[in-house]
Amino acid sequence: MLRNIIEDPADPYHGYLMHMIKDVDREVLTALAVNFFINANLTGWPRQKELRKKYNCNIPWAILLDPASACNLHCTGCWAAEYGNRLNLTYDEIDGIIRQARTWAKKIEKCVSW
Ligand code: SF4
Repeated sequence: MLRNIIEDPADPYHGYLMHMIKDVDREVLTALAVNFFINANLTGWPRQKELRKKYNCNIPWAILLDPASACNLHCTGCWAAEYGNRLNLTYDEIDGIIRQARTWAKKIEKCVSW
């Protein structure tokens, strides 16, 4: 799949991937790779399954946080333009969500790498 994306300029993810490879800082790419492939999937997924069973509750794989909906580019599949430009989270609201998630994760055990 990754090979197809790299080799096919018509693939919808081609431009995005090439931009990441060429323009994103190497340390950021490394942190992304470690967190996504190792922490979240290779080691995180089995731990997540184990803790879901242990605590009999859902433990999300990720928390998606959209700080703002102010975009009118209408990319295919994106919901942002449907909601106008007034749904914005304040810094304090974003900070509060992250703090709640950290507190929750610590209570569930150290299953999420922050
Ligand atoms: S429409 Fe959605 S995907 Fe496209 S740039 Fe705006 S927020 Fe990003």
